[in-house]
Amino acid sequence: MKLLDADNLNAGYGPNQVLFDLTFNLEVGGITTILGANGAGKTTTLRAVCQTVKTSGSLTFLGNRIDGRPTEEIVKVGIAHVPDGRGTFTQLTVEENLRLGAYTRKDRNEVAADIEQMYRRFPRLKERYRQQAGTLSGGEQQMLAISRALMLRPRLLLLDEPSFGLAPLIVREIFDIMRQINQEDKVSMLLVEQNATLALSLANHAYLLETGKIVLSGSSADIKADESIRRIYLGY
Ligand code: ATP
Repeated sequence: MKLLDADNLNAGYGPNQVLFDLTFNLEVGGITTILGANGAGKTTTLRAVCQTVKTSGSLTFLGNRIDGRPTEEIVKVGIAHVPDGRGTFTQLTVEENLRLGAYTRKDRNEVAADIEQMYRRFPRLKERYRQQAGTLSGGEQQMLAISRALMLRPRLLLLDEPSFGLAPLIVREIFDIMRQINQEDKVSMLLVEQNATLALSLANHAYLLETGKIVLSGSSADIKADESIRRIYLGY
């Protein structure tokens, strides 16, 4: 069974349709990336999956239809969104953010154990557990946003431009940890990235979006080998 099946998915804002008949699927345990230019509809695709934008067409998660369900239910079935701009609570401390991330869970001991696990993965967060999230560096805020989403114990993590505005070294660190999380915790990922080279280094599969339509899909290796993609998106 696929983790997620999107079939003829349309989405938009008011009268403006942004996504047109997207059909794609995600493998259980895989990392898939959506590539595309500015404004192609990548962010909207993530919003469509977590139903924070109005959609038509079908979305099936582990065999169950999820389109039309409220976002709280989407969270409960195991889909967590790390939005662009990160979305941490800036006035709250690191640890308060992590606790809030687990708001759907009642197992307090396990929540505490998971917070420790996040601190092992991201030691910088442990050092700053009482610091206000708004005063963290950009990289630390991204680490916190990812950790907070993981506190839901999702099956699928939706990541919107995790590298945005960060220095290359920090990006490497974060991407290495994302790979570990995928392999060790079996969290599947749908990754949106401007930086196609980086995205393809992490993902197994890629879709290319142009003005709201999927124009190409394939394994990351195939996509990297595609001459036109190399020229336009990878720059070599
Ligand atoms: P970028 O890389 O620039 O973020 P993107 O591929 O993620 O681009 P989207 O953010 O999905 O693209 O935007 C697709 C289109 O939808 C754009 O034309 C954008 O102006 C429009 N759009 C995005 N969010 C909204 C919104 N909240 N209300 C109205 N239009 C929106």
